[in-house]
Amino acid sequence: MKTILVAGGAGYIGSHMVALLVEKGYDVVVVDNLRTGHWQAVKGARKLYVGDLRDAAFLDQVFSENKIDGVINFAAYSLVGESVTNPLKYYGNNVAGSQSMLTAMKEHGVDKIVFSSTAATYGEPEKQPIEESDRTDPTNPYGASKLAIEGMLKWCDKAYGIHYVALRYFNAAGSNPEAGIGEDHNPESHLIPLVMKAALGQRSHIGIFGDDYPTADGTCVRDYIHVRDLAEAHLLALEHLEKTGESGIFNLGSGDGYSVKEIIETARRITGREIPAKIEPRRAGDPSVLIASNKKAAEVLGWTPKRGLEEIIADAWTWHSGHPNGYEG
Ligand code: UDP
Repeated sequence: MKTILVAGGAGYIGSHMVALLVEKGYDVVVVDNLRTGHWQAVKGARKLYVGDLRDAAFLDQVFSENKIDGVINFAAYSLVGESVTNPLKYYGNNVAGSQSMLTAMKEHGVDKIVFSSTAATYGEPEKQPIEESDRTDPTNPYGASKLAIEGMLKWCDKAYGIHYVALRYFNAAGSNPEAGIGEDHNPESHLIPLVMKAALGQRSHIGIFGDDYPTADGTCVRDYIHVRDLAEAHLLALEHLEKTGESGIFNLGSGDGYSVKEIIETARRITGREIPAKIEPRRAGDPSVLIASNKKAAEVLGWTPKRGLEEIIADAWTWHSGHPNGYEG
């Protein structure tokens, strides 16, 4: 049985990865500092180590106590707005945490890592759909910290033979109702969970950040991808590294775009709730359209997303309506 170390496995996407690995029969070890993650989200892992990636002695202990075959690193801060006001927090945690992880991997002879990157590495896109070879010019420190890690991975591959796959996520959403896990951020800033909270009456309305963009209905268009499809891509990436040892960078998106208004309309239909919405000013730094080309992931990893927007929103609704206070009850 293969042992996979999932860093940030108590977070939203990480916990869905843990559930999938467990379902597929992997032995799973999690490290998480639980600053933004939830211990309750870690289902079926053999062990949860609570500590910080930047603590070299802590990581050394994790690698010494377990024979790790591969690493998946989700551990990061991910609030775009906060990264603009506190960039050092993002470089400090995200970049230094990954550096520490790579150092431990090098010392313990572990040569495979799947890294969670982001569409924010592109910044304002040159064209749609966005391809991996397009210009990367992040417009915030969050995206810049992830791009810096991609650079570090490239050089560590050349120097130490640590092979990597970096996965640039578009808009992750949905949940895993069977495993009883879902999205629980505090504060929450993402559209779909906020729409769910408005449907539950926990918020008076959903604010639509701008309706004067150059799109069909004037609201921003994004590429929403089910968190379970994302997790499946990581598993294929690990298998790809095992088979070929070839590093690479891949977009993970559906290839379809939906506007903010379309998301709210779909949520109204699926939840049967009114969901009041109000037009509000634009949010700084929001590009009008972000849609992934997922051709490379299909061709090289054999990944195609299986779940569409309806399933994303239905699963998000199952989670939020069943856990109105997230993991707290
Ligand atoms: N958005 C919105 N109201 C909200 C939160 C988000 O209109 O309360 C919009 C946001 O401007 C963007 C889209 O919804 O166009 C998705 O935003 P989110 O923060 O979920 O993800 P991002 O695309 O920023 O990664």
